[in-house]
Amino acid sequence: MAIIGFVGLGNMGGPMLRNLIKAGHTVRAFDLSARALEAAKDAGASVCASSGEAAEGAQVILTMLPAGAHVRSVLLGDTGLFSAAQKGTLFIDASTIDVETARMLHEEAGKSSHLFLDAPVSGGTGGAAAGTLTFMVGGSEEAFMRAKPILAAMGKNIVHAGGAGTGQAAKICNNMILAISMIGVSEAFVLAEKLGLSHQKLFDIASTSSGQCWSLTSYCPVPGPVPASPANRDFQPGFTAAMMLKDLKLAMAAAMGANAATPLGAQAAALYALFAASGEEGRDFSGIIQFLRGENAPG
Ligand code: NAD
Repeated sequence: MAIIGFVGLGNMGGPMLRNLIKAGHTVRAFDLSARALEAAKDAGASVCASSGEAAEGAQVILTMLPAGAHVRSVLLGDTGLFSAAQKGTLFIDASTIDVETARMLHEEAGKSSHLFLDAPVSGGTGGAAAGTLTFMVGGSEEAFMRAKPILAAMGKNIVHAGGAGTGQAAKICNNMILAISMIGVSEAFVLAEKLGLSHQKLFDIASTSSGQCWSLTSYCPVPGPVPASPANRDFQPGFTAAMMLKDLKLAMAAAMGANAATPLGAQAAALYALFAASGEEGRDFSGIIQFLRGENAPG
């Protein structure tokens, strides 16, 4: 069992920490929030006064922070953890951040004789609590093999995506597909309504035809056909429009840097920006169907 420093104990990090402790690891925890620290203490973690203290004696350091700027501020610089940690420490950043920062962190970790992995997740807070997250992991084979048993305490699918930054690349490419397909499915339901075709009939036909996709068959944006989808509970998240917008912005920045043509990704980002700005950033992302109908989501 490993000694793990864990920085960032929010909606995702908190339950991930609990699963590490359940699996028998020793966790040294730090967050800026006193409430998050209290919960970590109750879960059995050693609570620390700084990220530097959480890194003391740790063989592995996990970060689960909001964005690239937070990860850079915790890991880089004279007081950052790349300087503070013992040589040969394995760093795993599970945050969703920009590809450019992820690649730079791989380089900086190497300069300090550490191993680094970008390992963003999908599965949401439910997956974090159940220990069924998917980890998309970028970095060396050596680092991946060392991380695998630790990630297995928090996730069900642990996929080695390739070299530096490819975990983040996988995450934003997948979510760009999801955003575009959800808008496509929503537009089809809105058109069907205008043409007098019922939701259920469109679902029955498209779900066994070439329009079939996850946004339709697992996360249907109209109530009825898929009882577990957020459309059946006033679009309570789930996965919020704000989070989808964050990931689309990361995808657009990466596309710009890599000179990739992603016109539908850009349209999806613009639509989610408008949807979020209409006061719906906390609504499930599939609620965009109501925006496309020209309606405000209920209550
Ligand atoms: P969150 O805001 O709930 O948690 C982030 C935590 O980081 C907070 O507790 C905050 O206090 C802490 N923090 C910020 N700066 C810090 C610092 N300098 N030192 C120590 N702690 C610091 O966010 P979350 O929902 O847990 O998401 C974390 C990451 O996971 C994000 O990158 C997000 O995009 C990604 N993600 C979230 C979900 C989800 O459903 N919530 C799903 C997949 C991926």
